[in-house]
Parts: sequence; C-alpha cells; structure tokens
Amino acid sequence: MNDLFDAALTRRRLADRRLVVQTRLVEIDSRLSAVRSARSEWTDEEHDPEGFTLTHEWSHAEGLREEYEFESDELDHAEARVLAGTFGVCERCGRPIPVEQLERRPARRECVSCADRGLRR
Ligand SMILES: [Zn+2]
Repeated sequence: MNDLFDAALTRRRLADRRLVVQTRLVEIDSRLSAVRSARSEWTDEEHDPEGFTLTHEWSHAEGLREEYEFESDELDHAEARVLAGTFGVCERCGRPIPVEQLERRPARRECVSCADRGLRR
C-alpha cells in the first residue's frame, strides 16, 4: 500500500465523487427523456429548426452520460484497488501516482505522464 494514502479517507473521497456522478446521471437521464418526449412531437426533424435543436441537445446529453458512466466504472475499479492495496499506483508504469493528481481525480488509474502518452498514440 502506498503510505501516502489513507484508505478510509480515499474511500470517502471516492464515495463523495460517486454521489456527484450518480446525481449527474439522474439529471442527464431526465433531460434525455424530456428531449425524447419533445422529439416525438416533431415528426419532420430534418426540416424543422426546433427538431434540429432537440437532436443537438440529445447528442450533447448522450455524450455527457457516456463520460459519467466511464467515470462511474473508474470509481468501481478504484474502490477495488483500495481494497487490494494497489490504489494510487499507475496501472501503466507501476509508479506511485502523485497525490495532487489523485486529489484532483481520485479514480484515475494512470499517472498524468502515462495518460498523456496514451492520448498521443
Ligand atoms: Zn504511469
């Protein structure tokens, strides 16, 4: 276990973040169903500016939902790693992830330099 990390504190942070993520997902779902019912009233979407706005709104909300679902998965993994004692270790290079990076995003699985390298590939 990374000595810099207090498991109880880490789990509390993860739980706090999970609460935020779950609240957002509920909000997004209600927005999606609002758009869905508004959309069903607009049959001629392609020629209707209102229909276009709704379609745009829909894909925006869908995108957000994907992001939060991804983070929710990351949180599951993070909790498992706290229990396994491997939390705070980069999955890619095996080095400890700097505490300030974990404070910003407790569910992160890779250190910033590995994540950057992943993006560039
Ligand atoms: Zn790394």
